[in-house]
Amino acid sequence: MTLISTQTPTAELQALDSAHHMHPFTQGAGLAEKGARVITRAEGVWLTDSEGHRILDAMAGLWCVNIGYGHDSLAEVAAQQMKELPYYNTFFQTTHVPVIQLANKLAEIAPGDLNHVFFANSGSEANDTNLRMVRAYWHAKGEPDRQVVISRKNAYHGSTMAGMSLGGMAGMHSQGGIIQGIHHINQPNYWLEGGDMTPEEFGLARARELEDAILEIGPEKVAAFIGEPVQGAGGVIVAPDTYWPEVQRIIDKYGILFISDEVICGFGRTGNWFGFEYYGTKPDIITTAKGLSSGYIPIAASIVSDKVASVIDTVEFNHGYTYSGHPVAAAVALENLRIMEDMNLVDYVKNDIAPYLAEQWHALGDHPMVGDTKIVGMMASLALTPNKDTRAVFKSPAGTIGYMTRECCFGNDLIMRHVGDRMVVSPPLVITRDEVDELIKRARKSLDEAYEKIKAAGLF
Ligand code: PMP
Repeated sequence: MTLISTQTPTAELQALDSAHHMHPFTQGAGLAEKGARVITRAEGVWLTDSEGHRILDAMAGLWCVNIGYGHDSLAEVAAQQMKELPYYNTFFQTTHVPVIQLANKLAEIAPGDLNHVFFANSGSEANDTNLRMVRAYWHAKGEPDRQVVISRKNAYHGSTMAGMSLGGMAGMHSQGGIIQGIHHINQPNYWLEGGDMTPEEFGLARARELEDAILEIGPEKVAAFIGEPVQGAGGVIVAPDTYWPEVQRIIDKYGILFISDEVICGFGRTGNWFGFEYYGTKPDIITTAKGLSSGYIPIAASIVSDKVASVIDTVEFNHGYTYSGHPVAAAVALENLRIMEDMNLVDYVKNDIAPYLAEQWHALGDHPMVGDTKIVGMMASLALTPNKDTRAVFKSPAGTIGYMTRECCFGNDLIMRHVGDRMVVSPPLVITRDEVDELIKRARKSLDEAYEKIKAAGLF
């Protein structure tokens, strides 16, 4: 094996990377030509790459490093737990202290009757669990025909077969199809799809597609509705105010279950512990991952209501992962939650840093290329447009301008993501006001540079 380290020249690392490492959501050939960016260290909201650049990570990794990088106590807790009990499973009527503690902590944090926790290793796996659990619930209740889960186009619920199928990403569905029993309705994306309606009218219309779908499928066949409070990977799509109350009304009317996918919105991102609290909805199950451990270790959890758990508990739920409730992951997650509470991070988001970011973010709306600016807590997006008044889209294929803008951000040592021609950020929740100023300064500079390039290329 070739011996390498962070001191190995970047080009050599890149060549070895492309020789053997297949990257997620990446065209391998293109990357091989360009060379991957090699990240070597991180601290707070800052990454360092193999060329010594200091990069502001406005995406918190993949929306997950809520407490920021560099908290040594998580490493210490992991080492301690590995020495004491590195592994034991939670099958066959066994348990261990970290998993008991974490389940209890999550039941305490999650409001209402969300009191029961089923562990997994990733958001995708947790959504697989949820799909199986809602079907098992109706089966146990003597309504086995309730199989269908209604979701939304442009939703993201993971990359496993169930996660991908529950999600509404056309580019994923087209590579091999989806599993049975998933139905997708339209998303509440006003900027792109609102037409001549007001946002309020559009929100109601899109919510009512849920009712139409239930009636078309037959209420006796519908198991659940799944949705992210704010669509993250879909581009930080914030539904009009009328949307979620109407969705909840329809869920209640037909008595279907509601899964709130909190993989991004959970653990403080919206200024609440969970995103559904921001909208006042009443989920029966919530999907959590990412912020549960701030990405320091893989762990995910389905947090389940008394209503669902009391039925599931009457049967043997034939489901589980070798690493469900892994003791090291559970110990690290507990330490992460301790730090969040210690720092009053949810409160900091709600009352300090999110309102500050919102002010700066909306100010970007004066840029000639920026239309919509949206923000909920510490997740924000802006639509790039050639005409703000008509909410026009660029003539170039969707994503061309977004990609060019993202490249300018990279050039300015700012990690900002593009989803089509929408730019998104989701920084670590611990970001300071000075760092927010720096983020905005770099974002504006990148937008200016992209604007000049786009005009020069005749794309505006
Ligand atoms: N649900 C949502 C809302 C997500 O954003 C993601 C990941 N971005 C997932 C599920 C899947 O999580 P994972 O990548 O951990 O499988």
